Amino acid sequence: MTSPQAACLRAVLQLGYHLLDRGSSALVAVEQTIRVLERSGLFNAGKGAHLQLDGVRRMDASIMEGDSLRAGAVASIEGTVYPISVARCVMEETDHVLLVGPMATKFARYFKMERHGLRTPPRRLPYGTMLKQIRSARNQHGTVGAVALDRTGTVAAGASTGGIDLMLPGRVGDTPIIGCGVYADNEAGAVSMTGWGESIIRLAVAKEICDRLAQGTAPATAARVVLKRLVTRVQGAAGALVLGPNGRFAIEHVTPHMAAGWWDGRSEPTVRD
Ligand code: ASP
Repeated sequence: MTSPQAACLRAVLQLGYHLLDRGSSALVAVEQTIRVLERSGLFNAGKGAHLQLDGVRRMDASIMEGDSLRAGAVASIEGTVYPISVARCVMEETDHVLLVGPMATKFARYFKMERHGLRTPPRRLPYGTMLKQIRSARNQHGTVGAVALDRTGTVAAGASTGGIDLMLPGRVGDTPIIGCGVYADNEAGAVSMTGWGESIIRLAVAKEICDRLAQGTAPATAARVVLKRLVTRVQGAAGALVLGPNGRFAIEHVTPHMAAGWWDGRSEPTVRD
């Protein structure tokens, strides 16, 4: 893979590895790597997030750490470059897990989170026309996510997205829903999902994979079993980053493509599509 996206993925893998190598927490590694992906504009997150059918960019993100099971998330947030950092701020500055819509945006403003000035003209489509345009997004691309394990044995997972291609204003997918788009538990592992959110939500996929990890199933097997069930039960489509507490790792998907990578600090990071 030699695309700009692949180059960006290699760079963030190196960043994440070096952060962990220097003693940063898994939470920091996940947040910092996702921030680079959000800022790049190359993925469906942050500056590159899809527009909803009214022409507005509303984004979802979540982050979770596996020591104390703390989590934070935002949904339908607007005008911010780094939704993942707003999610971390919800986790660290409040007793809440999820903030949504204009109040999530207001929260980001209060904490002086970096704004983006991307303006798109509003689309004034009649609601009935928008309803006819929406469709299930089985083969979407571009949500970003990361999982990490630090020296203390703590795992973390995060994800950030602009959602799917043709979606009603206010539509929220799996990404900000803990247990669906992400989950992290030191006793199980860490999972970050991408794919058709409506199907992922119905099977609470991230938690389902973590539950299997907790029972001793290997990451690749746990992911394959749950993704197979996603296809057979709800005709879903998704991809998963799965990390066990012992560092065993798997990237599995039932979508045609999933750009993802890993690095163990030797040679070059591996990135595949
Ligand atoms: N899971 C995201 C959503 O449904 C989309 C994606 O992963 O591409 O909002």
